[in-house]
Amino acid sequence: MRPEAGQTERELAEAVRDWAAGVPPRIHEAERRGWLPADVIEDLGKLGVLGMNVPEEDGGLGASTVVFALVLEELAAAWPSLAVGVSVNSGIVAGSIVRYGTGEQRARWLPVLIDGSGLGAFALTEVSSGSDAASLRATARRDGDGWVLNGRKQFITNARYAPLVSAFARVGTAEKDRPHGGITACIVPTDAPGVSLGPSDEKMALHASDTSALVLEDARVGADAVLGEIGGGFGIALAGLDGGRIGIAAQSIGIARAVTERAIAYGRVREQFGRPIVEFEAIRFSLARARTDLDAARLLALRAAWLRDSGRAFTREASMAKLFASEAAQRVTYQALQVFGGYGYMREYEIERYARDARATTIYEGTSEVQRMVIARSLLAA
Ligand SMILES: Cc1cc2nc3c(=O)[nH]c(=O)nc-3n(C[C@H](O)[C@H](O)[C@H](O)COP(=O)(O)OP(=O)(O)OC[C@H]3O[C@@H](n4cnc5c(N)ncnc54)[C@H](O)[C@@H]3O)c2cc1C
Repeated sequence: MRPEAGQTERELAEAVRDWAAGVPPRIHEAERRGWLPADVIEDLGKLGVLGMNVPEEDGGLGASTVVFALVLEELAAAWPSLAVGVSVNSGIVAGSIVRYGTGEQRARWLPVLIDGSGLGAFALTEVSSGSDAASLRATARRDGDGWVLNGRKQFITNARYAPLVSAFARVGTAEKDRPHGGITACIVPTDAPGVSLGPSDEKMALHASDTSALVLEDARVGADAVLGEIGGGFGIALAGLDGGRIGIAAQSIGIARAVTERAIAYGRVREQFGRPIVEFEAIRFSLARARTDLDAARLLALRAAWLRDSGRAFTREASMAKLFASEAAQRVTYQALQVFGGYGYMREYEIERYARDARATTIYEGTSEVQRMVIARSLLAA
């Protein structure tokens, strides 16, 4: 069922939870093969999830950031690999086009990001430029009535099923005191001449969420490819990541919720020393800590989402939410696996998959160290 605009936020999230309940039979095979099934992405398009944060006049549901966070939590609780793909497509790529795109760019590109034909990608990272994103080396050069891009982007989520990539490249050269100078955001269709993919990265987890290198070799795009101002790309990347961090916080929360629910259910039925293990204080305290971490993380994420919806500054709060929720997900998955004992270590119970998937949340869209830098900077600027 496609949620209708105007439904309450909880109803929208519940519609996604109902849909996600049918997904688990698909997960094992997709994680083994290493990519998200096309029909699952199509379903998300039909459900309206991919355009949830896109205004109604652009064909989306026009839902709030609070809804977005609740829905991503549902997706992550069911399947973390799917949640990160949606977070990048909708939160960062579609979100940036909504915010910075011209009327023509919105009309051309938003439909393909929300109809379920693929998932958009965000290409900032390079081999020598990760946390220090302003040091990127990809170049964009004016050529006739278009642009020519060169560079190699690294670890790009969704690139393999992306109709378009928002890619960051430098126009001109960086000045010493303005390292981000010249960085420009370009909308690059993946079928443009000179665009190709490297092999899929072999990762620790999130196996169904493909990450690949994106190679730009004299890639040609039109004059209308530039998103926002020439040289304004670094601000666009940071703004996209601010919103994206709420999505990664929600992904972490979904993971933590899924394993806590499973640990409670397992602890009720697993008996040792003649009684269910939930009767042992060590297990009860572990569950209590997990639930407290989970609620604290959710409140931080919803606060950041609410601030954003209210039109207020939310950069610091998004970083706090991402930092706390991603690190809470490490603690909670560790404890949940402990509750399962040896069974938690076995693939069958899936706890080990959630625990491995959770690890990436402290790294992508800014490591925990980068979040602490953002938070500290905002405190010291005040
Ligand atoms: C699964 C996955 C998917 C990804 N998807 C995307 C994507 O779609 N698009 C994209 O552009 N990128 C993507 N990335 C890249 C990701 O954003 C980067 O890996 C991340 O920003 C860190 O950069 P790095 O790996 O180069 O680490 P580095 O920046 O080299 O950092 C290494 C270590 O040094 C620390 N460090 C760095 N600078 C400082 C400092 N000043 N103070 C203290 N500590 C510091 C870091 O916190 C980290 O612990 C993805 C990564 C992964 C793992």
